[in-house]
Amino acid sequence: MKFDYLIVGAGFAGAVMAERLASVLNKKVLVIDKRNHIAGNAFDERNEYDIMIHKYGPHLFHTNSEMVFSYLSMFTDWYKYEHRVLAFSDGELYQIPINKNTLNKVFNLSLATDREVSDFLDAIREKRYPILNSEDVIVNQVGSTLFEKFFKSYTLKQWQREPKELSASVCGRIPVRTNEDDRYFTDRFQYMPSDGYTKMFERILSHENITVELNKDFFELESDLKFDNLIYTGPIDKFYGYRFGKLPYRSLRFEYKSYEKEFYQPVSQVNYVDPDVDFTRVVEYKHITNPKSKYTTIACEFSQSDGEPFYPVPSDDTRHLYMKYRDIALKERRVKFCGRLAEYQYFNMDQVVANTLKVFKQIANE
Ligand code: FAD
Ligand code: UDP
Repeated sequence: MKFDYLIVGAGFAGAVMAERLASVLNKKVLVIDKRNHIAGNAFDERNEYDIMIHKYGPHLFHTNSEMVFSYLSMFTDWYKYEHRVLAFSDGELYQIPINKNTLNKVFNLSLATDREVSDFLDAIREKRYPILNSEDVIVNQVGSTLFEKFFKSYTLKQWQREPKELSASVCGRIPVRTNEDDRYFTDRFQYMPSDGYTKMFERILSHENITVELNKDFFELESDLKFDNLIYTGPIDKFYGYRFGKLPYRSLRFEYKSYEKEFYQPVSQVNYVDPDVDFTRVVEYKHITNPKSKYTTIACEFSQSDGEPFYPVPSDDTRHLYMKYRDIALKERRVKFCGRLAEYQYFNMDQVVANTLKVFKQIANE
């Protein structure tokens, strides 16, 4: 059989592109994934205790884009969920992002108004200009004591790089608040798909023009497979045989434990920000996916360089290397690169959806 499009990867980029090509342009699409499931890193499944687990780490959907939210809403209902995170340091739990409560607890203060908090931050921040990296962005907002306590070691554990060796956008993802808002995100839309991500992906991919084949690696495809165009959502350096050198990625290892108790920790996610603990964070899925189970399951995350690529590493040197790949990628006429690994960007799910819809529009206008 001949396909109009071969799509490599059944994650957000691959699935959304397949759905648009199939339903809007009436194209015949083959989606392959080397894993044994769809949904990419957003894959979720129920464990033996009937708790929905995200196999590749917690995926919280949040966006300010009405367009992205309404697009995905064609394939799922949602339930409201606002993520909350605590940082564990020196035996105490602190609200993260840093807010008024965090400052009062760390410095034993009783700051009351937003104004008092911003005056205090002005007194402790160390002005940096220009903001060139992840150390600058935090120290410039909250000074070095809070940077050392909450960011320095956690970042080193997660990235195996000092914050000053990472783009400002990495730690710059985390805001600083002068009020008591302890939500991790403030986006307009913060919801979880009612039946989980995998079910949503099943519906996205259920079009009659779409064929999905799992356990199929693009680099081991039979040569008789016929297609006119290619959408590639895997690592871009691998596509080009690492000809300019390997791009670094961070991966994770998860250790699961289950307990017969209602909850293990007060919120879904506790970040272990001190250097003496090996893992980065502990995620308790029951808070997120809210099952009625009398058990609870936690996942400890250990960051590592080997293993499946999960995170691109945003920095000047990696950007430079990525641009070499991007230059040749832009010259391809029948291949488009889409998604977090193919574009080597620290994208959230909504950004991948928005970008894929944009690339689809370009294709539709070609
Ligand atoms: P992926 O989901 O990685 O899909 C790419 C697919 O391509 C994979 O399934 C892979 O198996 C397949 N593939 C690669 N190479 C080949 C090949 N050679 N042949 C066949 N198939 C191949 N985003 C949020 O918005 N909120 C969050 O809370 C959030 N939390 C996250 C937590 C973690 C631990 C991680 C790692 C990511 C998180 N993200 C989150 C980001 C989110 O996972 C990504 O934005 C999104 O999944 C990227 O979609 P994608 O299609 O680009 O890539
Ligand atoms: N970060 C940190 N301490 C925290 C939370 C975040 O140092 O308590 C830094 C760290 O470098 C992390 C980055 O900010 O990798 C982005 O955090 P986020 O929670 O967005 O990471 P993700 O959920 O993508 O792993």
